[in-house]
Amino acid sequence: MRVEYPLTRRSLPVALTLHFWASLLSIWLIFVSPKSTASQVHPVGPIALVGAQVLDGYEVAEISDGVVVYEDGVITAVGSASDVQIPANALVIDVGGHTVLPGLIDNHVHVDLIGHGSYERYYEFLGGDERLNEVMPIAAKQMLRAGVTTALDLGAPFEILDVRRKIDLGEIPGPRLMVSGPWITRVQYDTIPDSYEEVISSPEEGARKALELIDRGSDVIKTWEGLTQEDYHAIVDAAHSRGVKVHAHLYDPEAIKMAIDAGVDVFQHVGSAGNPPYEEALINTIAHKEIPIVQTISHRVWVYPSTLAFPSRLKRAEYKTDMPVDIYREFMDSFQNFHQLPYFRNAATEIRNSKQSASQFIDAGARIGVGTDAASPLNMHLEAIWREMSALVDSGMSPIQVISAATKTNAEILGVFAERGSLEPGKQADILVVAGNPLEDIEVLGRVALVAKGGALWVTENSTLRVEGPINRFQNP
Ligand SMILES: [Zn+2]
Repeated sequence: MRVEYPLTRRSLPVALTLHFWASLLSIWLIFVSPKSTASQVHPVGPIALVGAQVLDGYEVAEISDGVVVYEDGVITAVGSASDVQIPANALVIDVGGHTVLPGLIDNHVHVDLIGHGSYERYYEFLGGDERLNEVMPIAAKQMLRAGVTTALDLGAPFEILDVRRKIDLGEIPGPRLMVSGPWITRVQYDTIPDSYEEVISSPEEGARKALELIDRGSDVIKTWEGLTQEDYHAIVDAAHSRGVKVHAHLYDPEAIKMAIDAGVDVFQHVGSAGNPPYEEALINTIAHKEIPIVQTISHRVWVYPSTLAFPSRLKRAEYKTDMPVDIYREFMDSFQNFHQLPYFRNAATEIRNSKQSASQFIDAGARIGVGTDAASPLNMHLEAIWREMSALVDSGMSPIQVISAATKTNAEILGVFAERGSLEPGKQADILVVAGNPLEDIEVLGRVALVAKGGALWVTENSTLRVEGPINRFQNP
């Protein structure tokens, strides 16, 4: 969809002259009168990103000489340079050599985690959930820096709502968050603080807990392990009575069948552990019913072998600057002898199974969303999203399919596609600019140059763009 500005036609030289003076005026206005929230700068007046390849979130051909215009946090025009009239007062940012696409959506994150090597030791270090208010802002910042502008957190105490409030007020950088809050399970894990889970022993209790969680702020319900067929039915019916979707953590084929029968809305993981290959009939049922699958494969198939091959990936400068000294020390110390970490004990089997199940679902034409399980051990927020997208390409999806899955499909799964997930007039200005062409090499998505969230511009430390004007930076003051 393309929108033109209702400017009267002028002769080219006059228009250019007017455009020049208007641009100067707008730059002056932006420098002297930015709208700021607590610590963030929001541009005043229209912003035009020009000269780039534009991918709008749909599975269609790229716009090779594309323009994206937005104002007041809302996209006003998307199209080729010959079709879009750039407003005379726009701040024009030349992003030639780059690709512009919708901000990425991660449909499975953990804002309480930072990639520490051991859950048990991590929670012990944090004093249970006592220092969550320190680590969650670190995770949120890293996600936005990686180009993730919306994320679904699947399992954290309700302290996460305080972090979301700070993000929304502009006090700290981070993606737009949707949250499950604590998950519902019959199996209690001793290594995880109680505030993370609601352990039930009957379907009635499951339904009651689901309603309580929604009252406390859960945007979705997450179910975990050991649930019965009746549990799934009770929880799904309760959640649906409030218009809330249920995301189930699933591996076991019998649990998957129960979840299908109960009408669970989104299947998380499905296959990245010990069960595949799945029966063809089961895969086909999921594909036919168009139940979204969020597989989280790269934390198995990529993290371990890549760290073995290149341990230096654990030492990115941003980790040190993002974290207080003692947290950074603990974080780095947890990677000593990482090949001995219990989390990777079954890495070879899990990698084989992940690859198998990913190909099974992709070949069957299942509805694929994208989630990362970041930041499980060594699966850092700075890399998780593009690594997952790369793993999906390796599993058989084309780059444009994966990009559409991580934007449009993910927004549909979350029920927010009316507001974001594509670059179209009227949608929120959540925009990612990366250096190079992700259609040729999907890992280009790791080269984030610029992120806009709600129109506020964020430039990464190693950005390939030199943007002047109303921008925000991720460095600590
Ligand atoms: Zn998870």
